[in-house]
Amino acid sequence: MPLRFVIIGGGPAGNTAATWAARLGADVTMIERDIVGGAAHLWDCIPSKTMIATGGAMSFTRRIEGMGLDRVQAEIDMTSLKDRVEGIVTKLNSSIGQLLESQRVRILRGTARLDGPHRVVVETASGDVEVIAADAVLVASGSRPRIPEWCAPDGERILTTRQCYPPPLLPEHLVVIGSGVTGVEFVHMFSTLGSKVSLLVSRQQVLPNKDAEVAAALEEDFLRRGVSLLKGARAIAIDRSEHEVRVRCEDGRVVAGSHALLAIGSVPNTEDMGLDGAGVEVDGGGYIPINHHCQSNVMHVYAAGDVSGKLPLSSVASMQGRKVAEHVMGLHTLEHRHLDYDKAASAIFTEPEIADVGLAEAEAFAMGRKIRVTKVPFSAAPKALINNDPRGFVKILSDPATGVVLGGSIVGRHAAELISVIALAVTANLKVTDIVESLLVHPSLAEALADAAD
Ligand SMILES: Cc1cc2nc3c(=O)[nH]c(=O)nc-3n(C[C@H](O)[C@H](O)[C@H](O)COP(=O)(O)OP(=O)(O)OC[C@H]3O[C@@H](n4cnc5c(N)ncnc54)[C@H](O)[C@@H]3O)c2cc1C
Repeated sequence: MPLRFVIIGGGPAGNTAATWAARLGADVTMIERDIVGGAAHLWDCIPSKTMIATGGAMSFTRRIEGMGLDRVQAEIDMTSLKDRVEGIVTKLNSSIGQLLESQRVRILRGTARLDGPHRVVVETASGDVEVIAADAVLVASGSRPRIPEWCAPDGERILTTRQCYPPPLLPEHLVVIGSGVTGVEFVHMFSTLGSKVSLLVSRQQVLPNKDAEVAAALEEDFLRRGVSLLKGARAIAIDRSEHEVRVRCEDGRVVAGSHALLAIGSVPNTEDMGLDGAGVEVDGGGYIPINHHCQSNVMHVYAAGDVSGKLPLSSVASMQGRKVAEHVMGLHTLEHRHLDYDKAASAIFTEPEIADVGLAEAEAFAMGRKIRVTKVPFSAAPKALINNDPRGFVKILSDPATGVVLGGSIVGRHAAELISVIALAVTANLKVTDIVESLLVHPSLAEALADAAD
């Protein structure tokens, strides 16, 4: 009898695990209460990047004069933007659904919880209850926006990131609370679409966990386009009237706007999942601690994606899902590479775009590790001048003794695509000379990578 593998959650972690395990011969049931594709498709990665792409097109029209063209005045149409977001999500979800069906994954619509270590109970969308026996279970139930006790989002003027796709009207003045990756992406999104934006930065730097030089480049761009940055501003309350929100800060400052957006992190969806009864431990934040095979303390119950408390990225969730499938089906006994979370590339879809991978400069200094840092501005790359966008730089960190590439950051146009070269070098332990001696396209932005590696 094939191994019975039950997966709770159809996001990147769940649907990748389902496809791979089914391909390897498991009998897979995947339970999803919303849409196959998960929060990543419904609210997070896809809708946000679709709106950012529209904002990017608008901001491109503002730079067009320098390219020998007359000024183009783009106007935002919220109805067609909404249709575009929904159209892309529908298209992606139907292709994931088709892929799962082609692998004979059973997709069950409903809400699942563990009922002991080897049974999953599902309350289906039609109100029926189904009990499924499992040889292995994957909890991939994702996360949701963190809502502090001092504020109650109403979906009208006080919004979470899930209530922005897209708003019926463009906020006249949006006050964004939180300056991590999600916060700055929404600042960028709404300011390019045409809203006035104020950003509350609880510390002294946006992106507090990123390279200071990278954060400074973004702050400079925000200020240039009129975003108000309020540093050391920790929100403690939001008052709302019919047409206005007023965000109060710990130090007494009050910031008024038409709307407020909360972007202060997320919490895992692990409550009401029967984890306790199944003997699965969670930590103080509600995350499920895992080993390098993504196993919880109960060996046949796995956790992947945001619930695992590792890097909250769709790319990481998918790769964990794949590793879980391989482990469930016994493939880890063959040649196998553990996931190295320190080598995950990530990007921030602002303007300029920001991407990094591997070791960061500050991290190396904190460890007292000797590194070689080389940096080249895009203004030295012919393609950046041709594109009329010479902002940003490429920075590469390598081992001074061996030349092995340890990490890198890119600020500038197409950073999210270009970082793949450094990510590959970091994962495969390539040397700076491997990048320098690659015969790259000319003119291309990638030439700046070769120059930075030299
Ligand atoms: C605004 C925003 C933008 C982001 N953009 C990016 C990006 O550009 N790139 C990137 O890599 N990452 C991005 N992320 C992070 C990314 O969205 C998450 O890391 C990713 O979605 C995690 O995948 P997952 O499989 O763990 O869970 P999810 O995508 O959250 O899916 C979990 C699924 O489980 C279902 N579920 C939960 N409980 C149950 C239950 N009891 N029964 C049945 N189903 C259940 C949920 O309905 C959900 O569909 C973004 C996050 C946010 C908030």
